Amino acid sequence: MAGDLLTLSPTQACQKISGKLSSVTFKECDTLNLSATGHHSVEGFPILLREYPPLPGKTPKGRVLLIGGMHGDELASISVIFKWMHTLQKHHSGLFHWHVVPLMNPDGALIKKHSRTNANGVDLNRNFLTPGAKGSALEYWIERTKRNKRRYPGDQPLSEPETRWLYEEIEQFKPDVIVALHAPYDLVDYDAPNRNNAPEKIGPLYKNLMGTYPGSLGNYAGIHLGIPVITMELPHAGIMPTRNQVSHLWTDLVRWLINNV
Ligand SMILES: [Zn+2]
Repeated sequence: MAGDLLTLSPTQACQKISGKLSSVTFKECDTLNLSATGHHSVEGFPILLREYPPLPGKTPKGRVLLIGGMHGDELASISVIFKWMHTLQKHHSGLFHWHVVPLMNPDGALIKKHSRTNANGVDLNRNFLTPGAKGSALEYWIERTKRNKRRYPGDQPLSEPETRWLYEEIEQFKPDVIVALHAPYDLVDYDAPNRNNAPEKIGPLYKNLMGTYPGSLGNYAGIHLGIPVITMELPHAGIMPTRNQVSHLWTDLVRWLINNV
């Protein structure tokens, strides 16, 4: 299986993505001209990215990395990113330099019975490095989650190709802010050295600072690297927000970025 997926073009990948997501048509995916990052999931599915680069004569305020589908069972987090990419297609003004990755965990999302974890059963949002954490993500998993299978961090940090991709992406792109979409907790969370400027409200989502877990992206990038991480938790994993909500989420996010980057 991995062999077949390894050779998928972005267009073929779009066929699989639109076959799974009822709110993303093939054309909506294919016309975005997503590019291959050269990185693949465990099963060999390409991790795809769309860049909205700086425009001639205009210096962007900063670099923003936007990620959906880190958890494969949070399908709305993928679809919303596709809608936002079409907004950027029309209105990219060079204000920010964007890297957008709509689907970080394709194996989890695209299988028939989609799963939070990747194909190795690893929760990618627990598989990051844990510098400065009191215990390892694995110890936390054993002692605190009682080996909850949905939160398995892997036997060591960065054991998974999807997480290694994000690690390298952060090293190379050097984002000023990372925005990750999740569901279904209906809130906006914020991890950064200084949380005073956390967004109070983005679209219908209100601020609720949850604290970080060993191995999470918020812990690694937000606390350790000092790159603010905005985590938007949509209210439903399998139900799309309304069109109005999708655009309200976007305008509030961009407004926060303008004021804080
Ligand atoms: Zn999630």
